[in-house]
Amino acid sequence: MPAARSAVVVGAGIGGLAVAGALARTGWRVTLLERSERLRGEPTALLLWPGGVRALHALGLGRGLAAIATAAPDRGLRRPDGQWLVSPRAEPAGADREPLLVHAEDLHDTLFAGLGDQLEIRTGVTVRGPATGDRPAVTDGRHTWTGDLVVAADGLDSVLRPRVARCSTVVSAGATAWRAVIPWYRAPRLPADLATDGHTYRPGYQFFSASLGDRGSAGASRRGGRYWRATVTGAPRPEPPATQLDLLRRWFDGWHAPIGELLAATEPDDLLQRELRVVRPAPSRYAAPVGDGALVLLGDAAHPLAEHLGQGACLALEDAATLVAGVREAVPGAPLRAAVAGYDAARRARVAEVLRRSRRLAATGPLARRPPAQARRRDRAAAAATDWQPPPG
Ligand SMILES: Cc1cc2nc3c(=O)[nH]c(=O)nc-3n(C[C@H](O)[C@H](O)[C@H](O)COP(=O)(O)OP(=O)(O)OC[C@H]3O[C@@H](n4cnc5c(N)ncnc54)[C@H](O)[C@@H]3O)c2cc1C
Repeated sequence: MPAARSAVVVGAGIGGLAVAGALARTGWRVTLLERSERLRGEPTALLLWPGGVRALHALGLGRGLAAIATAAPDRGLRRPDGQWLVSPRAEPAGADREPLLVHAEDLHDTLFAGLGDQLEIRTGVTVRGPATGDRPAVTDGRHTWTGDLVVAADGLDSVLRPRVARCSTVVSAGATAWRAVIPWYRAPRLPADLATDGHTYRPGYQFFSASLGDRGSAGASRRGGRYWRATVTGAPRPEPPATQLDLLRRWFDGWHAPIGELLAATEPDDLLQRELRVVRPAPSRYAAPVGDGALVLLGDAAHPLAEHLGQGACLALEDAATLVAGVREAVPGAPLRAAVAGYDAARRARVAEVLRRSRRLAATGPLARRPPAQARRRDRAAAAATDWQPPPG
């Protein structure tokens, strides 16, 4: 067992929680810094692709997954009038090829439970940037935190990214997404024979919905309900949520059932609006050596949002599993720098492949002018989400 090594993790989103807990469990002394006053998940849902699920298992967090996740197999792609553009698969692709759906707060609870009690958590700390010195360090302007490793898991607007990738900036992807989870007790009762889940598309507009199941069903502890996501070309709306909801009801008026029923059952407080943004140019590296240690980018801080397949959280979990496997035994100096260089190379290659495939999908996908010409394209892009295997560790 190497001598005690220390890490400072900035940001307690999915990526930060996953890596902080896993580093602490492998003997690192970890300080987790988060600008919010409370650690909490977003009131939304996430598709967990097989790569993300494997990463959770590699991080030692997979056991609780069965209790919170619902299968979300491919349900095809429709036009607003209900006509199929891509029919649902006749045969399921299999558990290791299709995503699960989880409530983001349930996933957050799972990651939070995995933090253990050996790590220091500091909330209400807004990191302003890296601190100068011969060791990796960050500062909030008053205090400085130093470690052998600083992990920047501070999301898309990362204040630490410029230290590693100076030229990369965040730009709008030209679309806005609204998401909601209608809790199980308010979710509309839908006819059993209605095709309720899946994607619906017309140029500039996309709607996706899937069930989170019933609360506590099958002995599970999950929150339950019905998740939907609407993506519309254009800027975010400045109006209050009730007006945004009215707009969504107008935009999606006349779309096939149960889209109208879902929007009618949604309350303004359920609504989460988010502009889709990407990092351009993509960082040419995810880590920079500092003295005997390194500053490492992870999750949305590292890579642009691969939203077209909704994979950002899964990539963050893969990042965490890859980084922890690499640095598990590494001591500061050449071994740690080599481990971090390995992380950098492995993750850049992986993310480049996912982006290549999801951009190809985006060029013909929901926000494009034409629908995907062939189911094959969707399959190729989805395959990128499924074919990742954790490094041995
Ligand atoms: C509409 C939409 C749908 C999506 N659907 C999916 C999906 O189905 N599946 C999927 O895998 N992904 C999905 N994603 C992507 C996913 O939500 C993100 O990629 C993921 O949450 C990124 O996690 P993260 O930990 O890297 O960053 P974040 O979740 O952004 O966490 C960053 C944390 O850092 C903190 N922080 C920020 N700055 C500072 C600072 N200066 N000092 C201290 N703390 C700071 C923040 O408060 C936050 O807690 C979706 C995204 C969108 C927008």
